[in-house]
Amino acid sequence: MAKSKVSVATLGVPRIGRRRELKFALENYWSGKDSAEALLETARRLRADNWRLQAEKGVTRIPSNDFSLYDHVLDTAVMVGAIPQRYGWTGGEVPLDTYFAMARGSEGDAGCGHPGHVHSTSALEMTKWFDTNYHYMVPELAPDQEFVLATTKPVDHFLEAKALGIHTRPVVLGPVTFLRLAKSGGEEFDLLSLLPKLLPVYTDLLNRLHAAGADWVQIDEPCLVLDLEAGERAALETAYNHFATEVPALSLMLATYFGALGDNRDLAASLPVSGLHVDLARAPEQIEAVAAKLSSNTVLSLGVIDGRNVWRADLNAILDYLKPVVEARPLDRIEIASSCSLLHVPVDLELETALDAELKSWLAFATQKLDELVVLGHAVSEGRAGVADALQASADAITSRRKSPRVHDRKVGDRLAAVTGAMERRKSTFAERREKQSGKLDLPKFPTTTIGSFPQTAEVRKARAAHVRGELSAADYEAFLRRETETAIRWQEEIGLDVLVHGEFERNDMVQYFGEQLAGFAFTQAGWVQSYGSRYVRPPIIYGDVSRPEPMTVRWWQYAQSLTDRPVKGMLTGPVTILNWSFVRDDIPRSQSCRQIALAIRDEVVDLEKAGAVMIQIDEAALREGLPLRRADWKTYLDWAVGSFRLASTGVEDATQIHTHMCYSEFNDIIDAIAAMDADVISIETSRSRMELLDAFRNYKYPNEIGPGVYDIHSPRVPHTGEMTDLLKLARKRLSDSQIWINPDCGLKTRKWEEVKPALVNMVAAARELRALA
Ligand code: GLN
Ligand code: ZN
Repeated sequence: MAKSKVSVATLGVPRIGRRRELKFALENYWSGKDSAEALLETARRLRADNWRLQAEKGVTRIPSNDFSLYDHVLDTAVMVGAIPQRYGWTGGEVPLDTYFAMARGSEGDAGCGHPGHVHSTSALEMTKWFDTNYHYMVPELAPDQEFVLATTKPVDHFLEAKALGIHTRPVVLGPVTFLRLAKSGGEEFDLLSLLPKLLPVYTDLLNRLHAAGADWVQIDEPCLVLDLEAGERAALETAYNHFATEVPALSLMLATYFGALGDNRDLAASLPVSGLHVDLARAPEQIEAVAAKLSSNTVLSLGVIDGRNVWRADLNAILDYLKPVVEARPLDRIEIASSCSLLHVPVDLELETALDAELKSWLAFATQKLDELVVLGHAVSEGRAGVADALQASADAITSRRKSPRVHDRKVGDRLAAVTGAMERRKSTFAERREKQSGKLDLPKFPTTTIGSFPQTAEVRKARAAHVRGELSAADYEAFLRRETETAIRWQEEIGLDVLVHGEFERNDMVQYFGEQLAGFAFTQAGWVQSYGSRYVRPPIIYGDVSRPEPMTVRWWQYAQSLTDRPVKGMLTGPVTILNWSFVRDDIPRSQSCRQIALAIRDEVVDLEKAGAVMIQIDEAALREGLPLRRADWKTYLDWAVGSFRLASTGVEDATQIHTHMCYSEFNDIIDAIAAMDADVISIETSRSRMELLDAFRNYKYPNEIGPGVYDIHSPRVPHTGEMTDLLKLARKRLSDSQIWINPDCGLKTRKWEEVKPALVNMVAAARELRALA
């Protein structure tokens, strides 16, 4: 009898292609340049490449149906026929354009540049996939929702791989997580009440997969790492008991990821499935308890290779850590796996030609992680000797990183150790600061301003690209940016804005621009990761202690301020946002990196003040995004996140006004933390919520100043003055006049000047009307 071996699995791999082939194929299809066949052919080729690569490397549980043209949650909704009426689907095959209408609306991809925002009225809403920077389309369900198996994509893809001679394990999103992620299309109702109608569709699918030749199916229920209500726990029992009786011949690998099972552990371990996958990169401490709970007949899938980060794994340490568990279990009941889908990491490190060899030796992208998984699998099945070289290489990389002076900067550590409580507080209370600030600033009632960026026109992007390619000299690029800035300043003066911005023309991205100037950050050339649909990002990699060698923005601010007598806001990205939109270190806590970044930003804030800035805005667009999945962990996160913001922002004198900006739609549950940030002025997005967001501030008796967005920049439509005064009247019901600033929502960089100009002219007019009234 052949010796049994562990299986080796990825839970999914990147779909976008090594060279972003999927993005370009999608865009060409959407623009009408290419046919649907061309798009589908590219998609087929990407799938085949992924399957072959994994097979060649030696992955034994190769996923299928992990591929998606746009989003796997959308695929699931379409699969079960959850297609809201407005898309006009009446049954039968779901046309490609119906699918894309759900993804993008009929008008397409308007948005403010950062995800999480509705595009056009008819698209599904989009929101963050758990605590990742991937965004999914929120399924919309009705109380009388019917489900049917509208597409058989999982079966089709299984057969497609089979035709290539590759036996795969299809991946499907589990029914309970699907319902948990969905929302009601109309009035609220208990979405779980739809489970009995949904289960037969899943059963149908699973039966078809089995008939097609699948022996295993990976069924993802990441909701098992969340706080669950009794109804949800019962739903999981119902669903998996149902599958156990209805599809007994099929083995289900129940996959959980993004955190510990925690109080759902016993439930997860008791469900009648053939395998359970746990995330041991995020929650290594749960290994023993899970192994002890799980029947020895059940396959335990050990998610040890981090699917959320880019670091090469310490393979020897992982093997040591796994030893007690793998020794106590039959090898054929063990799977070595990535912690979650590799969707969240870049495709292949080999594409990076500009990163130096040392740094590269510390990293592993999706392709490299396949090798790591296979090495681990081999070592567990057959001992470490056969993979001694690979294990040594891993050890060498870990040692080099641990000792590198590029990673560890004594000065940064010393500085952090010397931070005192006083460094995290303004010198005086808000009331005292406000006195001094208004003495210095001489602003009218209801001062007007904008959030920072102005349109990044084709011209601006062209000039930047030419500069990056070396076709536009530094001097010419600089001169171009100065002209853009000057035009923006002149125009703001002309229309009568009170507080000006320089326009951010020199910035490629609100995080990258800073990361490129900070020590401890690296950037990739091809390290794209899907953010949503055809939008990919290249997150910076924080690899070392962070410090700021030189001022980053002072020169641009100085130039802008030299052109005008009105105050120009200094414009910075906050430490929490920089951290949350980057790949972080795994050798120190995130909170520590965050405080390092905070000190660097603090230096910049102080330098801006020295240069004469009287107002400095520190954007924290991603502070809320960083909230942990479990409610019990919120406080710890908010404490250090707010602490970091304060460390960054409080190095100034009382008379210097600190602004912050946040673009989300929910403040109720974090209002204490928002207040604790103690920014003198906060601007928020409110236009679409008709100022209801301000209730949280009113109920809290939030004392500082607030700029509620009065103009929804997500639409090209130019709002009239009257619409904005109406919104401001609603704001005045909730705030005192002396608190109110007037500004648009954020994201002007994504609009055209033709849209921005009349809208801001109307906004200034609204301010004047309000002043006359008040
Ligand atoms: N200052 C940035 C801008 O106006 C803020 C962007 C954001 O918060 N997303 O673009
Ligand atoms: Zn914003």
